[in-house]
Amino acid sequence: MPLAKSIEAIRADFPILVTTVYGKPLVYLDNGATTQKPLQVIQTMDELYRTANANVHRGVHRLSDMVSERYEAARETVRTFINAPRREEVIFTANTTASINAVAFSFGERFVGEGDEIIISGMEHHANIVPWQMLCERKGSKLKVIPFSDEGVLDLEAYRNMISGRTRIVAVTHVSNVLGTVNPVKEIVAEAHRHGIPVLVDGAQGIQHGTVDVTEIGCDFYVFSGHKVYGPNGIGVLYGRAELLNEMPPYQGGGDMVANVTFEKTTYNELPFKFEAGTTNFTGAIGMAAALDYLTGLGREAVAEREQALLAQATAGLSAIDGMRIFGTAPHKVSVVSFLPGKIHQYDAGMILDKMGIAVRTGTHCAQPLMERYGISGNIRASIAFYNTEEEIEALVNGVRKATEMLG
Ligand code: PLP
Repeated sequence: MPLAKSIEAIRADFPILVTTVYGKPLVYLDNGATTQKPLQVIQTMDELYRTANANVHRGVHRLSDMVSERYEAARETVRTFINAPRREEVIFTANTTASINAVAFSFGERFVGEGDEIIISGMEHHANIVPWQMLCERKGSKLKVIPFSDEGVLDLEAYRNMISGRTRIVAVTHVSNVLGTVNPVKEIVAEAHRHGIPVLVDGAQGIQHGTVDVTEIGCDFYVFSGHKVYGPNGIGVLYGRAELLNEMPPYQGGGDMVANVTFEKTTYNELPFKFEAGTTNFTGAIGMAAALDYLTGLGREAVAEREQALLAQATAGLSAIDGMRIFGTAPHKVSVVSFLPGKIHQYDAGMILDKMGIAVRTGTHCAQPLMERYGISGNIRASIAFYNTEEEIEALVNGVRKATEMLG
């Protein structure tokens, strides 16, 4: 399936891609950390500030009305993008981290007690570990961790055996930010649901690589960040099933989340506003909707296909370098390659690549337990987007080879 635009036209949509670094053309391969923004997003936000800025849901005046309409239209865009059943099940937050913390706190307050258990996996980003640990500390509950193989595949048998009468929630990543593994979230959800246990899926690295359908996955919560899906920073999404969200207490109090306030008693607003206290990042939500529209316009399956071709090229090229270790060789992967060439330290190689204009991530990628699992202090991660080119992948492979030779 071809992309709706040529690669040249796509690259022209992303102004930053013509930047030079130390006089070299930028090769941006750190898309897992954050993605670049197309003009369609930049111009939407610019136009909003120039012509329609006012506080959302606050005024009877025309500008406030206009912004409120566009904010709610953005919610509908998100709903369609993830195929959520209802618009009120889409809550705007600051990012994935904020969404997970919201669920860990609010769901935890209502449904988790002493001696209860929470299941996560061994390949989680810190954002899907620490909020659950904090909940466990508050409530005296226990964290259980699904192991995974050297290839980066979750052990589903261990997962099945881990579920008990005390399990209250399962929280797993859709896609590992280090290994690139696409986890069988539909299967994980089905197993949990057989025991009446809800599931949160961390979609921070899943949302940008093809179609995501929360109805098909069947999950109870799906969370992601705008900045990782070609949208602005500071905006995120918490999709939650209304039946659960209605049972959960709000985790922040303030304006907009209330129905009626007296000093004696406050009643809360309905969904989604119950979980959107204070002035939200409405500009970000509208900008993110522009990013989602952009991806839809390109063709999300075509995006995934292009990225798979670039992933195959990168994996083959890097694997051919002497002493190369690739972390994450699961059969179902997105366009992320984590690696270590020989005994070379990741920071040294990363610094040399940087001098060549090549931006990759080095370190633990906020997944320290995963690094421990492989007995390493960190690695190098190239995360590829559809706007990357075959020439850029070649530059990465040549750059890594050169760095390896230089560092001996
Ligand atoms: N979860 C995963 C799998 C991630 O890769 C990241 C960020 O890299 C996060 C959560 C946290 O995202 P954010 O920093 O946008 O909240």
